[in-house]
Amino acid sequence: LVREITAAEPGVDLALGCTAQRLLREDGAFQGVVVRDRNGSEAELRGRLVVGADGRASGIAELAGLPSKTLPHERIAYGAYFEGRLPANAPDATLWFLDPDVAVANPTDDGLVFYGALPTKARMAEFKRDPEAALVSYIAALPEAPPIHESTQVGPVIGKVDMPNRMRGPIGPGLALVGDAALATDPVFGVGCGWAFQSSEWLAESIAPALRGEEALDRGLSRYRRRHRRELRSHTFVIHDFATGRRLNLIERLLMRGAAHDPEVAARFKAFGSRQPKTGRALAAVTPRILVVNARQALSRRPGGPAQTAPDQT
Ligand SMILES: Cc1cc2nc3c(=O)[nH]c(=O)nc-3n(C[C@H](O)[C@H](O)[C@H](O)COP(=O)(O)OP(=O)(O)OC[C@H]3O[C@@H](n4cnc5c(N)ncnc54)[C@H](O)[C@@H]3O)c2cc1C
Repeated sequence: LVREITAAEPGVDLALGCTAQRLLREDGAFQGVVVRDRNGSEAELRGRLVVGADGRASGIAELAGLPSKTLPHERIAYGAYFEGRLPANAPDATLWFLDPDVAVANPTDDGLVFYGALPTKARMAEFKRDPEAALVSYIAALPEAPPIHESTQVGPVIGKVDMPNRMRGPIGPGLALVGDAALATDPVFGVGCGWAFQSSEWLAESIAPALRGEEALDRGLSRYRRRHRRELRSHTFVIHDFATGRRLNLIERLLMRGAAHDPEVAARFKAFGSRQPKTGRALAAVTPRILVVNARQALSRRPGGPAQTAPDQT
């Protein structure tokens, strides 16, 4: 979809099968790339700005020698598409926090469901030995398990065991990184594609005045770097901390239990989980309510305590 839409834009030359090999640098700034096609022929592409949108192993970031920081990631990810009976919450996705392992059931196009297992690396040997069997038994053993035994696997089980959290740049002289090239994070929260689109948008907005000739490119690039940090810093802090494979902390347990029993806490939790702006502060504001809901639940579990409210399916 992205390729089709981009190729249809006036002024875009789509060059499939070309790989960026080297950066062109003149007068202290990057001024383009050398690309090689499938026949081995090389060509220079020149421009005022080079954008590295080349994913989590970004060669452009490496070639540019941009600063980078890598943080550990202690989970593996295995998943496959299945056809058959849909999970109870379809068309919504369901995410299991098994503390510390994670699982996901994602209903998607054409009646397919993507089942994913994201356990800690403690289970890596089991998944490497027999990915199909490990995935099916992992999903079937979930609490309120989705109907994986009533489904047929469509396509191979895809696994990824090395997914360090990586932050780079995101700018250099005449150069900017977007998407995973700038920030590759733990896939548990499903934010990567959204952030790839958003970071591209922030870059475009930041450098528009420079492209109109109203200011120097460096100013626009600095604006992009600030925006990237401002928008994503607090979310990446939470995501990278959880990516260590640690167990849920007390605050997270209270929050999740509160969300299961109280619609207002659930709404705030959803807003935070779906990365809506300024929800960290909104979540803090609902802390007293989270504590009250948890206290009520604790009391209700004692003999003679008030009746327990049933957790909803949020
Ligand atoms: C297991 C797993 C599960 C995930 N689940 C989700 C999810 O549920 N939701 C979500 O939003 N995100 C998810 N993500 C993250 C998501 O896949 C990425 O964040 C997203 O694809 C990043 O987009 P991008 O365009 O920056 O990079 P990419 O999608 O990696 O695209 C980079 C492109 O650059 C090309 N390229 C690389 N080097 C060169 C070169 N030298 N010359 C020319 N081209 C080059 C590559 O071929 C590729 O096409 C998941 C990731 C993993 C690993």
